[in-house]
Amino acid sequence: FNLSLERTEKLKIISDLAASVAHEVRNPLQVTRGFLQLLSKKDDQQSQGYITIAVNELDRAAEIITDFLTFAKPELEAISRLDIRELLEQLDLIMGPHASMHGGRLVIVSEEKMEIMGSASKLKQALINLIKNSVEAFREEGLIELSARAEGREVVLRIKDNGEGMDSEQLSKLGVPYFSTKSKGTGLGTMVTMRIIEVMNGSIIFQSQKGKGTEVTIRFPLVDQLAPSTVKLPH
Ligand code: ADP
Ligand code: MG
Repeated sequence: FNLSLERTEKLKIISDLAASVAHEVRNPLQVTRGFLQLLSKKDDQQSQGYITIAVNELDRAAEIITDFLTFAKPELEAISRLDIRELLEQLDLIMGPHASMHGGRLVIVSEEKMEIMGSASKLKQALINLIKNSVEAFREEGLIELSARAEGREVVLRIKDNGEGMDSEQLSKLGVPYFSTKSKGTGLGTMVTMRIIEVMNGSIIFQSQKGKGTEVTIRFPLVDQLAPSTVKLPH
């Protein structure tokens, strides 16, 4: 009985989300349509600006859909052993330039070889969501420090920024669908990140101080030496 109730509740949440995601996606798509219609009539310098806006709006729509689909079905993907250091190196290649472009720095420290079980692409998405939030919270001299170390039988990832921080009310709303303080925020990023980490048997804690910065601590079980190298999770 408990199980079926839980399932019904989950389905309800997902269908509620689907309805509002569809609504959310309509706006950027309509803006894009409008600009593309203007483009077909005009042939002047302004065209470049319209194209830029159109592309940004399309990217935004794609982002919302990706976030939502990850929330709805994160467990369908196969998991395997992940080398954390290797994953962080790949992350540095994508997010280092992103931080620089916004006037700050991303420093990644990962000395030992550590392995966990999980989905590389999903974990990358979770970390990208967190780093993006840190970048969007940049003030002057933005700095994000991401470290990975083994502590006991766990891998601990820490993401610390010196950005604008959050007050206790903001902190308590983190992960609630559509909670965003940004004019162009989706309010889905943290929810998706939490869900991915939960599905990978990890935990996540946010600590923050308004005007000082934010520190995120993520823990995963270190992979057992005898664990099989790949596992397919049941639905
Ligand atoms: P979005 O980024 O689209 O607003 P998120 O779920 O990623 O949605 O984040 C929700 C809100 O939490 C943000 O709008 C912001 O107010 C706050 N937040 C999250 N991470 C940080 C951070 N590192 N520093 C300051 N505020 C943050
Ligand atoms: Mg975000």
